Amino acid sequence: MTATYWCEFAWLGGGTVAEGVLIEVDGERIASVEPGVTTPLPDAARLNGITLPGLANTHSHAFQRALRGHTHSDRGDFWTWRQAMYEVASRLDPELYLALARATYGEMALAGITCVGEFHYLHHGPGGTPYSDPNAMGRAMIQAAREAGIRITLLDACYLHGGIGEEVAGAQRRFGDGDAAAWAARVSELEQDEGARLGAAIHSVRAVDPASAALVAEWAAHGEVPLHGHVSEQPAENEASLAAYGSTPTGVLAEAGAVGKRFTAVHCTHLADADFHVLGEAGATCCVCPTTERDLADGVAEAERLRSAGIELALGSDSHAVIDLFEEARAVELDERLVRGKRGLNQATELLRAATQDGHASLGWAEAGRIEVGAIADLVTLRLDGPRLAGTRPATAVEAAVFAATAADVDRVVISGSDVVRDGAHVRLDVPAELDAAIGAAWS
Ligand SMILES: [Zn+2]
Repeated sequence: MTATYWCEFAWLGGGTVAEGVLIEVDGERIASVEPGVTTPLPDAARLNGITLPGLANTHSHAFQRALRGHTHSDRGDFWTWRQAMYEVASRLDPELYLALARATYGEMALAGITCVGEFHYLHHGPGGTPYSDPNAMGRAMIQAAREAGIRITLLDACYLHGGIGEEVAGAQRRFGDGDAAAWAARVSELEQDEGARLGAAIHSVRAVDPASAALVAEWAAHGEVPLHGHVSEQPAENEASLAAYGSTPTGVLAEAGAVGKRFTAVHCTHLADADFHVLGEAGATCCVCPTTERDLADGVAEAERLRSAGIELALGSDSHAVIDLFEEARAVELDERLVRGKRGLNQATELLRAATQDGHASLGWAEAGRIEVGAIADLVTLRLDGPRLAGTRPATAVEAAVFAATAADVDRVVISGSDVVRDGAHVRLDVPAELDAAIGAAWS
């Protein structure tokens, strides 16, 4: 199936947008890109506004969407928040998780997200008893993404310990496979398809001991799939790692063979000096999740320093306190400004690249996140006739998109060559109604 789109403005990777861009799509791929076509062709679908490549949400825990509004009223810290997270995790079964994830991924589609990295650790039934299909929860995530019209990389997370040297307890029993070999045997049963790829995750050095981390890294290397891990989100995590292993989480993971080109370290809000070098030398990616890191009082990643060390950036909405990659992108820069008292540390094009191309690459979709011939046909159009972006001109459109747009400005979304959002609404799902029903059921 072929389709032709005429974009009023499109970001093709440079410092400004191109005007009048004709894009031909053949099946799931972009067949041609022609800028400078000032008059729209009569038979081309017209994309008024700024068209961007698809956005990649590189770090998601879909079930945490049910926590929105439930964790913001009391004092506390990451560790008290975690108790609320365990509470909602304890309430889900495959059927309800499918509904909640489909609605959450529908919200992502509405925000221009074309691919999600689901960092998946809610594997088993209550008490840790496997379902009759031990991958029932993971398959529910893949099905949810398919029904919401977005692509997914299921980053199945190994989770073995409640803390360093501790057994899993309470809700954590649902996360654990007992040992890394059992984790690998289970995950090896999962299938990939055209919209779903697999990856591995080491939950954290709190939850996975070094020998087990090495096994997970080996499994990921053997399959040449992405490997992600939570890294240095909290000072207490670093302190525990140093006390137990004499090394930072990054050091422990590097020693285990986990840190390489396909590795993405999530958060990196409390890296040691040497960690920048280790991650940069390896060509690793860092996924920052600023809206969650703010919400949990984690800290601020040193994004400019990460980039200078040779580490690619990616973005994630993580706990889904909000789902808006424009907010994540600008927060990388704006939060760092507050810490350092300087502006312009991360340019709009660099932030947009993190939200698109580099995020997709982190999830194993190197052929997505760019508007160019041969790339997967993802197009995200922001309207310019709304209050936030009205008055935008081509010379400043990239800055306007990054520093002023919100998910509510997303008007049209094409994913893998198919229309998923039109006129700001999902073509198949009533997303707000599905969110309301699923979240209501989760708390009932
Ligand atoms: Zn996370």
